[in-house]
Amino acid sequence: MNPAPDATSPIEPSPLCEPCQGIQRNWRGAPGHAELQQGNHRKELRGDVQVTITGYFCDRCGAHWHYTNDKTNQRAGWSLAPK
Ligand SMILES: [Zn+2]
Repeated sequence: MNPAPDATSPIEPSPLCEPCQGIQRNWRGAPGHAELQQGNHRKELRGDVQVTITGYFCDRCGAHWHYTNDKTNQRAGWSLAPK
């Protein structure tokens, strides 16, 4: 009934492993998966709001993810890092 939050995400050209494909994007609090290795994080200003962006690499398929932690935005969460 409710549209999936990631329904409008562009299709990524690079193949993702199954656990990566299962990550729910752009949704606050969505879990990653066990084969993601946490990398650096940084703080960024989005308007007046400071958010924390944490980088992750997937051990299995090499995907580079960002997890955006923004308490004010339910649609902030996992996204694939720009190439
Ligand atoms: Zn992966």
